[in-house]
Amino acid sequence: MRPALKSGLLPVWRDRDTLQIGVDPRRAIALSGMSGAAGLIGLLDGSRDRDQVIAAAAERGIPPATSERVLALLAAGGALDDFPGGTLRTLPGPLRSRLAPELAAASLAYRDTDGGARTLARRSTAVIELAGDRRITGEAERILRAAGLSRVRPYSGQWSGPGPTLVIVAGWLGARERAVCDQCVADCVPHLVATAREAIGEVGPLVLPSESACLRCLDHARAGHDPAWPLILAQICARRPDPPACDAVLVAAVAAQAAAQALLAIDQGPAASAAVNGTLELVPPDFRWRRRSWPPHPDCTCGPLTRPAARPAVAETF
Ligand SMILES: [Zn+2]
Repeated sequence: MRPALKSGLLPVWRDRDTLQIGVDPRRAIALSGMSGAAGLIGLLDGSRDRDQVIAAAAERGIPPATSERVLALLAAGGALDDFPGGTLRTLPGPLRSRLAPELAAASLAYRDTDGGARTLARRSTAVIELAGDRRITGEAERILRAAGLSRVRPYSGQWSGPGPTLVIVAGWLGARERAVCDQCVADCVPHLVATAREAIGEVGPLVLPSESACLRCLDHARAGHDPAWPLILAQICARRPDPPACDAVLVAAVAAQAAAQALLAIDQGPAASAAVNGTLELVPPDFRWRRRSWPPHPDCTCGPLTRPAARPAVAETF
């Protein structure tokens, strides 16, 4: 191990004896008895292995037993990374610098101990295809590329080669967009719906074919509450308002949420996303995200409740 303090956490002193690693209580840990070991903290930059850290600390007058104890406490508190991980070491310096904020954030959010190396490895093999409204997909693509994904491309419907795949279908859910969703269900490809219409943003469902609610499950549920929904649905498949009531802030918010759910699905597995069996909804002007649950509908033929063993496991393609 080459111990390094998590790069996103700032060490601050609470008093002469207590060092706090990080500011926000949801991330920070505090270590007491640190007045004689402050010099150790400056050595935790990932440039030395564990024995070299202890030896360098001893040269600064810090007993090895004290260094061992502090390292153990930092590790137990989740404040240490083994840095740089093998994947990070292979990156050119400028790329590593560009991705550093992304990996620092992921490392804290996921509480990993590899400085984000595993996250980067998953993102480097992921494929995301984009369909629908280019205002939303363009912004989502910008975010996804900044987060370390290089294989972001227009929807092709052609699946080959290794790597998890996810399709984002954005915009007004007309016939074209619904055809993409239906094809993804048929191909057993996970897909995320992201809409911004009538000054309302929705991200979800994230559909895991044969495992979670699909877009048609939502239509079945809506029809249960509104008998006119099938007739309305037929009309919105054929027509869309021009211009759409979708301003720049709503586009950016929906695109960012869609990118966040896609990254979470890639990094931690699709079941981690709050958009599975649900939608995340934003209704201006208050701009507070709320989640609505949409369980698989028993009348839908997509799979979760009607034919659980009829399709290959999603894990094979994701
Ligand atoms: Zn369904």
